[in-house]
Amino acid sequence: MSEVARRLERLRASLREACRDAGRPEDSVELLAVSKLQPLVAMREAYAAGVRAFGENYAQELRDKSAALADLPGIRWHAVGPLQTNKAKYVARSAHVFHALDRADVAEELSRRRTGAPLEVYLEVNVGGEASKSGVVPAEVPALAERVRHLPGLQLVGLMAMPPLGPDAEESRPHFRKLAELARAEGLAGLSMGTTHDYRVAIEEGATVVRVGTALFGERPAPARAP
Ligand SMILES: *Cc1c(COP(=O)(O)O)cnc(C)c1O
Repeated sequence: MSEVARRLERLRASLREACRDAGRPEDSVELLAVSKLQPLVAMREAYAAGVRAFGENYAQELRDKSAALADLPGIRWHAVGPLQTNKAKYVARSAHVFHALDRADVAEELSRRRTGAPLEVYLEVNVGGEASKSGVVPAEVPALAERVRHLPGLQLVGLMAMPPLGPDAEESRPHFRKLAELARAEGLAGLSMGTTHDYRVAIEEGATVVRVGTALFGERPAPARAP
């Protein structure tokens, strides 16, 4: 059994337990394996252990890895990082799901470039109000959601957040709660929230998909170049 397979087993048990503790069905949270900067061999191990949803941050890395792993049937590729219009084509071509939509111009470019099945999208919301962070501010969610709903090739499925990383996972709770409220107000079922650091809290607050990298693959190698 590979190290990744062992970690996956522990992680799945932990997710089931978090669901039980939160009074939710054990299979009500999707695990997205965030594989950014991880080598293909580790991703093949994860695939062999049953992972089918992989998350990548950088558009070119997504393009390259989806090509390199094209021999593995059934993978769903999730783009989870911020995106500029000039790289939208890679996400439009390679991804099934995009978690970090926060600009109308990127939405329009994705819509123009998309062929085939609609790209499922989450709006990334800057719930922490940090100036340096990506994400649309909460007040602008309704307008961006409305715009996206009218674009062909895109299917709005939910909201995503990446709260400020504090020392204590509990600090994420008000941000997750806020995101859940915003999603409810928009009639959106999808809640992409929670990482290695705070997935238990996210599950308590209603996450439908958790984006976990480190707990599954171990520490990430440093980027070879600036992303
Ligand atoms: C890297 C990343 C994750 C995974 O973080 P871990 O701490 O490794 O679990 C989740 N979401 C986004 C947007 C990321 O960039």
